[in-house]
Amino acid sequence: MRIILLGPPGSGKGTQAQLLVQRYGIVQLSTGEMLRAAVAAGTPVGLKAKEIMASGGLVPDDVVVGIISDRIEQPDAKHGFILDGFPRTVPQAEALDELLKHKHMKLDAVIELRVNESALLSRVETRVAQMRERGEEVRLDDTPEVLTKRLASYRSQTEPLIHYYSERRKLSTIDGMMAIDEVTRAIHRQLLALGAVEPKTHGKTHGKTHGKTHARSAAKAAPAKKAAKKAKAAKKSAKAAKKAPKPAKSAKKAVNGAKKAAKAAKKAAKKAVKKVAKKTAKKAVKKGAKKTAKKVTKKRAKR
Ligand code: AMP
Repeated sequence: MRIILLGPPGSGKGTQAQLLVQRYGIVQLSTGEMLRAAVAAGTPVGLKAKEIMASGGLVPDDVVVGIISDRIEQPDAKHGFILDGFPRTVPQAEALDELLKHKHMKLDAVIELRVNESALLSRVETRVAQMRERGEEVRLDDTPEVLTKRLASYRSQTEPLIHYYSERRKLSTIDGMMAIDEVTRAIHRQLLALGAVEPKTHGKTHGKTHGKTHARSAAKAAPAKKAAKKAKAAKKSAKAAKKAPKPAKSAKKAVNGAKKAAKAAKKAAKKAVKKVAKKTAKKAVKKGAKKTAKKVTKKRAKR
């Protein structure tokens, strides 16, 4: 899954990105974090960015595009990433499109966190107070003056991205004024609706023994059970579709589709059962052969 979090400073992008990382096991790529690390390490990029960042301006597009281009190629970003703070300008968004195209990667969604500007200053103040409490170093650009400049940069250079991505049907806007966990849930719902994440399976735990069934064989039978369950569900939906009054063309299609799915699932169930049976039979034959061989050897030894 590859997503972009869009929103002004203090909108909660960083917080949400971290929660999404925990939930989906993908990486957070924050250009702000990477630039701060470069500044701290005194690299050429850091030296270039230091003054600009301290004043609340934007680091040149080619610098951040270069950073992101390298970063998304790293193995930990293979399963997906959340871009936090990038892109921030239309040229950056265009460069990202090119990059992804070149690397055969697809962007799943752009999530915009919409917030009241009046709330941003107090949010940043709270963030600063919490960082001080934890004994963490406070960001140089987290002052009311610099925040005003960062907000102005957002309005003039980043806000046009809302139009850019909504034109490309990638934009989802979420109310960032809700409580943190509500925002997370809303993002999750949106990702589900877009098909970017799989719905959570509420499956029962395997290994439950029934009578004499051993936990291991129960686990082995799982594919067969799963397929049988699928067949049942498909059959049910086929029945439901059949019952629907005056089926329209699409309903008929659905019936046919469901019938096909039921057939396929049935076949899969049969196959899985056969496979398990075959394996068990093979094992039994092997075991039997071994026992007989042992007996013969014992007898011979006795003689
Ligand atoms: P952030 O941590 O996202 O608030 O970023 C902190 C600062 O890093 C910004 O105010 C910019 O100076 C710089 N920065 C981060 N990301 C970008 C970007 N995509 N383009 C230009 N400058 C950036």
